[in-house]
Amino acid sequence: TKTVTDVICPFCGTLCDDLEVVVSDDGKELLEVYNACAIGAEKFLHSQAKDRITRPRMRQEDGSWKEISYDEAVDYTAKMLADAKKPLMYGWSSTNCEAQSVGSEIGEAVGAVMDNTATVCHGTSLIAVQDIGIPSCTLGEVKNRADRILFWGCNPAHAHPRHMSRYSIFPRGFFTGKGHTGRKVIVIDPRPTDTASLADVHLQVEQGRDYELLSAFRIAFRGEQLPDVVAGIPKEQIYEAAETLKSGRFVIIFFGMGVTQSLGKNHNIDIAIAVTRDLNEYTKAAIMPMRGHYNVTGSGQVWGWLYGFPYAVDLSRGFARYNPGETTSNDLLRRDEVDAVFVLGSDPGAHFPFSSVKKIYDRPAVAIDPHETPTTEVCNVHVPVAFVGVETGGCAYRMDNVPIETRKVVEPPEGMMTDEEFLKHVLARIKEIKGE
Ligand code: SF4
Repeated sequence: TKTVTDVICPFCGTLCDDLEVVVSDDGKELLEVYNACAIGAEKFLHSQAKDRITRPRMRQEDGSWKEISYDEAVDYTAKMLADAKKPLMYGWSSTNCEAQSVGSEIGEAVGAVMDNTATVCHGTSLIAVQDIGIPSCTLGEVKNRADRILFWGCNPAHAHPRHMSRYSIFPRGFFTGKGHTGRKVIVIDPRPTDTASLADVHLQVEQGRDYELLSAFRIAFRGEQLPDVVAGIPKEQIYEAAETLKSGRFVIIFFGMGVTQSLGKNHNIDIAIAVTRDLNEYTKAAIMPMRGHYNVTGSGQVWGWLYGFPYAVDLSRGFARYNPGETTSNDLLRRDEVDAVFVLGSDPGAHFPFSSVKKIYDRPAVAIDPHETPTTEVCNVHVPVAFVGVETGGCAYRMDNVPIETRKVVEPPEGMMTDEEFLKHVLARIKEIKGE
């Protein structure tokens, strides 16, 4: 056996880069994964599943699946996209930037709407950032400098399990040699989460009242009067938490979907950014969204530099339009505005409302995914591909917008395509169909 070191974990936005993977001498079998959390290790080990689907399959009229060749899958996908008036090309968060780039070329060729998982996640954060900017930093700065950590509406103990040990609560950094004993941790969450149980202070905000509490922090920083209770939190606790933040040398605010997808949406993020700016009157402070999929940040980057918009990009008129609420996947599906669906690197079947999933089922749809998922089961064609970050490399962006080159550690099953290869074939076939 041999051990591959400095392997990147392609699961969550933490993109841990210190994994060690033991593979057989011929590089065909992955045997063991060290340093990853349980969900990260499972991603690697799942590539070795004995019942893994390794060839494309097409759903038959009776609901059963028939194996087809990659050529047939390429042909079906190219024709579906070329024939559609306005296809939706959704996902893109669990693949590399190279595939996102080829996918965008296809989107331009067929006039698709390109949308990623931010549409149901941190899209509201992106709107706020475009509106007022963001004072942010890297996770390295957090590790080395932050002595006040605020987790707002996120639960890294479950969603980003090594975030706390590598970057936020526990690590010893250059100016944070005492590790967690030198840091104060505040968690703001309506639920008593496992992250909250590690905090010095847990403020159990009432559900949906984050905006009020964030406003109260701004008032408390200035020492002005608060009502006795705000969003379920007694004012004494708010003044105390505000003082804890102001007295730090470096404050970092991490926020998750508890703030981005609750009442107030992008306005919550506007004011969270304003809180960060206020704190910079007293100390150094930064704020960072806890991005979920390992390369959702990368798809925002790719579309940012191609179109100027990070998600919900409508290319159907021959130029890029962006209007969240109109050009976002669920809104398009609900209004029957798209006539074909292509999904890559995401599982809307598991995460979209049932009404949207039914719309995917009702029209021609193709899913590109290494796994069998609820999405693959409602599509006409499922194309299994090599695991990015395991069986092929490529660029991914960590949650702090740092690009990291993922590594190939093991060979994919014989004859399997990568996302990028499949997309390149589809693009070439679309050009043939269009006579270009
Ligand atoms: Fe992978 Fe995230 Fe776990 Fe790190 S924290 S090992 S990136 S799943």
